[in-house]
Amino acid sequence: MMPRRISKPVKIGGVTVGGGAPIVVQSMTKTDTRDIKATVRQIKRLEEVGCEIVRVAVPDAQAARALVDIKKQTKIPIVADIHFDYRLALMALEAGVDGLRLNPGNIGEPDKVKKVALAAKEKGVPIRIGLNAGSLPKTDNPKLSIAERMVAAALKQIRFLESLDFDLIKVSLKAFDVPTTIAAYQAIADKMPYPLHIGITEAGTPRTGIIRSAVGIGTLLWLGIGDTIRVSLTAPPREEVFAAYEILKSLDLRQHGPVLISCPTCGRAEADVVKLAQEVEKRLLKINKPVKVAVMGCVVNGPGEAKDADVGIACGKGKGVIFKKGKQVAVVEENDFLEALMREVEGV
Ligand code: SF4
Repeated sequence: MMPRRISKPVKIGGVTVGGGAPIVVQSMTKTDTRDIKATVRQIKRLEEVGCEIVRVAVPDAQAARALVDIKKQTKIPIVADIHFDYRLALMALEAGVDGLRLNPGNIGEPDKVKKVALAAKEKGVPIRIGLNAGSLPKTDNPKLSIAERMVAAALKQIRFLESLDFDLIKVSLKAFDVPTTIAAYQAIADKMPYPLHIGITEAGTPRTGIIRSAVGIGTLLWLGIGDTIRVSLTAPPREEVFAAYEILKSLDLRQHGPVLISCPTCGRAEADVVKLAQEVEKRLLKINKPVKVAVMGCVVNGPGEAKDADVGIACGKGKGVIFKKGKQVAVVEENDFLEALMREVEGV
């Protein structure tokens, strides 16, 4: 893995993004922000699974006013996502949000962006310049690629904010197309010092979206690029957080909760490994410690293949071998596979 790009840190509420801080996991609520109760409930559910920053859409004044109560009733930092109307950004700042996400391409005249930047500066609230490939400002150079247009538009906004002596900046350049996204982030990484929020936009349903996101976000992280990540999925937002941590864990960038190792099963399997692995996965959701658990389909290869696990089971015909750190510690009956394994996991 390439060394991490060192960016200028910003604070979103109590969470540091950039400057070598652990890569921050964020998500976005999918409720109508005007429905305070539903939005607060979703934010709390996100917090339970380790989401560190949450973004909420602010499409109108009623949603902006709702932020006051949403802030009062929740703990994790809240970023207000604003399009088109700079006055909503001013209202969100008044409501006490911890960050703003603006798409400068659709906010309009520099004077409006200036008003927002001055108010944000006064409150010490960072602004994410969030470019999306689908909503780029017009260009007079038709030869530029989408990635180059995203970079040019972001740099223009960065220079403008800097001219106002505003440097609480984060940047994102998202596209649905993975190579475009990677090219854009790579191109901007050494052209400015600010932290990068990375992700693949409109990635899709979990089946495809997690793969697109893992490839895009994973490649960027491997290149040392990225300070905070959001996996965008057409799914409940908790799924985005689970996927984000799996990406970070698979690159050894963050530890978060258990890791499940399970064999794919094959003709040697003598038990229903798929069902057992699914049940174990469900039970592990309630466990916070970073424990590696293995579910293997046979006693021939199971213990050897899972020797990195803290606790594992190798299922045989009617009986299974439980092992810890690769060493056998018990033999259990088939109807006790799940409970016996979980008892050992609890005891680690
Ligand atoms: S652990 Fe056994 S059952 Fe599972 S894939 Fe390997 S050989 Fe097949």
